Amino acid sequence: MGEYFHSVYLNPALCKGCVGCIKSCPTEAIRIRGGKAQITESRCIDCGECIRQCPNHAKTAITNTMSDLAQYEYNIALPAPTLYAQFKADISVETILCGLMKIGFDGVYEVAKGAEMVSLATRKYLQRTDIKRPAISSACPAVVRLIQVKFPELLDHLIPFEAPVEVAARMALEEYSKQFAVEPGKIGTWFITPCPAKMTAVKQPVGLDRSNVTGTIAISQIYGDLLRVLPKITKNDCQLHRASWLGIGWAVSGGEKEAAGPPQRSLVVHDIHSASEILEQVALGKMKEIDYIECLACAGGCIGGPLTVENRFVAEANMQKRLQIIHQEDVASGHEIGQDVGGSDIAVTTRRPLEARPAMQLDKDIVKAMHKVELIEKICKRLPGLDCGSCGSPTCKALAEDIAQGMASETDCVFKLRERVRDLAQEMVDLAEKLPPSLDKDLNELCFIHNKDSKKQEEGS
Ligand code: SF4
Ligand code: SF4
Repeated sequence: MGEYFHSVYLNPALCKGCVGCIKSCPTEAIRIRGGKAQITESRCIDCGECIRQCPNHAKTAITNTMSDLAQYEYNIALPAPTLYAQFKADISVETILCGLMKIGFDGVYEVAKGAEMVSLATRKYLQRTDIKRPAISSACPAVVRLIQVKFPELLDHLIPFEAPVEVAARMALEEYSKQFAVEPGKIGTWFITPCPAKMTAVKQPVGLDRSNVTGTIAISQIYGDLLRVLPKITKNDCQLHRASWLGIGWAVSGGEKEAAGPPQRSLVVHDIHSASEILEQVALGKMKEIDYIECLACAGGCIGGPLTVENRFVAEANMQKRLQIIHQEDVASGHEIGQDVGGSDIAVTTRRPLEARPAMQLDKDIVKAMHKVELIEKICKRLPGLDCGSCGSPTCKALAEDIAQGMASETDCVFKLRERVRDLAQEMVDLAEKLPPSLDKDLNELCFIHNKDSKKQEEGS
C-alpha cells in the first residue's frame, strides 16, 4: 500500500493546541501531543473539516497558484460548477467563463460537461441487475477515501466511474490540442476547486494510473481577480457555450441524483459525519431497499467546500436561481444533457479496482487485534467517559485505543492524573506517619531530653 499524498496540512507555528479540531475529524485522525495538533496520515481523507474548525488558521490546503501556469505553453481552466454559485445569477455562466480567460487562461472547459457524461453513464449503470445495491456515487473523493479507510467492505458499492473533472480534463485535452495544434503535454489543465480532497485526487487519482488534470487552483484564490474583470466583460468578448442545467446542478446536493435520471429509490447525503453514519448503516446491511446514494463530504454539496468564498446558504440561493434561469433557457432551446460532447459514447469507467486502506483496524493480526479490543474495554471502564478531549484524543474510547496501541498513557487523562497525584500525596502522608520504630524511639528520646533541659533552664532562671 503506497503512501497517501495529503493536501490538508498543519502549520505547527499557528497551532495553539486548543483541541478545537480533534472532534470534527470523521476518522479520528487528529491528536494533540506536545501542545500541538498531529494528523495521522493513514487516517486523513483530506475532507477539510479541520480547516473549517480551526480558529487559528493552523490547518490549510496545498493547492497550485496562478504562477504555476508559466510552466505550460497553453493553460485550460476546468471550473467546478460551484464557481458559478459564488456570483449572483444575473452574471451568466458564459460571462464567468470569459472572466477566466481574462485572468490568464487560454481556454475553458466546464467540469459540468464531465458531470453530464458521468450522469449519462450512471443512468445506464443503475439499470443493471448485477450491481451491488445501494450503489454509492464516487464523485466526491473524500467520500471515496472514507470508504477506503473506514468501510472497505463497501468498495464494491462505489459506482466505478471517473470523477467529472477527470472526464472533463480528458475531453479538454482532446479538443484544445487540436485547436492549438500542440501535443497534450504542452497544455496545463487546472481544476478550479472548491475543496482540498480534489487536489489529493489529482495528485493520487483513485482508480486511474495518472490524472488528466495538471493541478488545482482554489476558488478562493481567483475569486478576487474574477470580481475585478467580470464587470468589464461584454457579450461579444467570448463566444462560449455553457453546459446543461443538469451538469451545472451538480454543485448542490441533490444535483447529482437529479441528473442520474428517472426517480430511483435513492438517498441524498451530505456532510461528512452524516455520510459516515449512512455508510455505517449500509455496512450493517440496513439499506437494502435503497438503489442509489448520492454521498458528499461537504454540507450542502460542493458549494459548502472549504475553499469557496461565499456563505454556503447564499451560494445555494445563487445556484437555485441560476438553475431556474438556465433550465428555462435549455427547455426553450432544446439543449440536451451531453449534446455538446458526443452524447453517452465517452467512456467514464475507472481502469483499476479501488484498494482498501483499512487504517482504522487495531492490528493486522486478528488475535492481537482481539486482545487489544479486550484491553480497550478494560481501559474504557477506568476512564471517566466525559469525552472532554483535554487528553488530546477526541474521545475516552480513542484515548483507550491510543493507550492499547502504546501511543498514550492513562495519565494523559487529566482526571486520572489528578487521581494519581492525590494517591501519591496520600502515599507520602502515609509514609511520613509510618517511620521505622527505631527512629520513633530516637525521636521520643530526643523529645524527652529536650523537654528536660527546657524545664531545668526555666527553674534556674
Ligand atoms: S482533513 Fe478531514 S480527515 Fe484529515 S485530519 Fe482534517 S478533519 Fe480529519
Ligand atoms: S483547532 Fe486544532 S489545529 Fe487549530 S489551533 Fe486548535 S488544536 Fe491547533
